Amino acid sequence: MIGLRGVRKTYGKVTALDDLELDVREGEFFCLLGPSGAGKTTTLKTVAGLELPDSGTVEIDGTDMRGVEPYDRGVAMCFESYALYPHRSVYDNLASPLRSPRYRVPPERARERIGEVAELLGISGLLDRPISQLSNGQRQRTALGRVLVRPARAFLLDEPLSHLDAKLRQQMRAELKAIGAVRRTTTLYVTHDSVEALALGDRIGVIRDGRIVQTGTREEIWYQPYDTEVARAFGRPRINLLPGTVTGGGFRSVDGKVELPLPAGAALPAQTNPPAQTSPPARVKEGTDVLVGIRPRDLALRGPGHDLTGTVYVSEVLGRSVEVTVRLGEQHVSLVAPRADAAGLRPDDPVRVTVRPESLLLFEADRPQCPGRRITP
Ligand code: ADP
Ligand code: MG
Repeated sequence: MIGLRGVRKTYGKVTALDDLELDVREGEFFCLLGPSGAGKTTTLKTVAGLELPDSGTVEIDGTDMRGVEPYDRGVAMCFESYALYPHRSVYDNLASPLRSPRYRVPPERARERIGEVAELLGISGLLDRPISQLSNGQRQRTALGRVLVRPARAFLLDEPLSHLDAKLRQQMRAELKAIGAVRRTTTLYVTHDSVEALALGDRIGVIRDGRIVQTGTREEIWYQPYDTEVARAFGRPRINLLPGTVTGGGFRSVDGKVELPLPAGAALPAQTNPPAQTSPPARVKEGTDVLVGIRPRDLALRGPGHDLTGTVYVSEVLGRSVEVTVRLGEQHVSLVAPRADAAGLRPDDPVRVTVRPESLLLFEADRPQCPGRRITP
C-alpha cells in the first residue's frame, strides 16, 4: 500500500533518511517508533509529498509518486504542530476539509461524520468554541479529528497523542483504533512511545538514524528484538542485560558470579560463515563476549527454572506486583513478582531467583555506536 524504497533525504549535512525501506500493508495500522531526530516526521512528509527524496522512490498503491502533488496523493496527514484556523470554531475546523471541492460532501452527511469523530475524540461539547480558547490537548484532538473526517487512502499521523495528559492519552489510545475511519483505512502512525506502539501497532517499524532497524508484530519485536537497543526500548522496567562470556557450559558473567545455561538455539559449533549484515548470527563461539537479556517478568522468586542466588537491594510495590532489585554478584537485576511472593523481603536478605532458560535472550556485546545484535533465534 505504502512503499518506500531506498529513500534518502538530506538537509545540508544532516542525513534525515538513509536508504529507508518501508512497507505498510493495505488496511493495517503500522506504528513507526523511534527517538526524536530519528527521521519519523521526514518519513511521513516524504510519503505525503511535502518533502521530495534526494533518491529512492515512494509508492502508494503500487504507483510511483514522483511528480504527484501532495493534494493528489490521497493521503491525510496530521502534523505534530497542528495547523488549525485559530479564530474559527472547532466545528468549522472539522468541516473545512469536507468543504474543499475534492471531498465536498452534503452538509447532512458532513454533520454526521463530524458528530461521530467528535464524539470519539471527546470534543462534542466544544464544537462551538473557537480554537484559541482550547487547551493544547483539545487542539490536538481537533487536529486529529480534522484528518479523520475526510475519506483518505491512508492516514499519516505524527505523534497525535503527544500533547495529551497521561490519563487522556491512555483513554484515547484505547479508542483510536475503534474509530470506524481508522479501522477501515491504512494508517501510518508515528510515535516515540513504545507502550503506544505495542498497544496500537498491527506491526511496528523501529527507526533509528534514518533507517528501519526492525519491522515486525509486537510479539516478534518483543521476543526477537534485533539488537540490545530494540530490547531496551520495549518493556518497563527495562530488560536486564548481563555482560559476560560464553563458556563450554553456557554463560558466565564478567565477575564470575552468575552462571546460566545457554538459551536454546545458541548452542556452540564454531561459526563457519561470517554473519549476514541483516540477520544476527545463529551460533556463538566459546569465549565470545555477550550480553544475556532477561525481562524482569521472566525472573521469579519461586517456581521452576535455573536457580540464582543473590541479595535484595531494594523493592518497590507496583499495585498488585512488586519490583525487586536483586544484587547478583556485582550486577543488579530487576524482577517483577506477585506481591505475595515478595512479602517480607528486606534489603540485604538473601534471595533465590529462578529463570527458565527458554526465556533468555543472548546478544553480542555492545560496541561504541553499535548495539549488540541478537544471537538467539
Ligand atoms: P523525528 O520526527 O523522528 O524527530 P525528523 O524527521 O523531524 O525526526 O528529523 C530527522 C533529522 O533531520 C533530524 O536530525 C532533524 O534535525 C533533521 N531535519 C528535519 N527537518 C529538517 C529541516 N527542515 N532542516 C534541517 N534539518 C532538518
Ligand atoms: Mg517528528
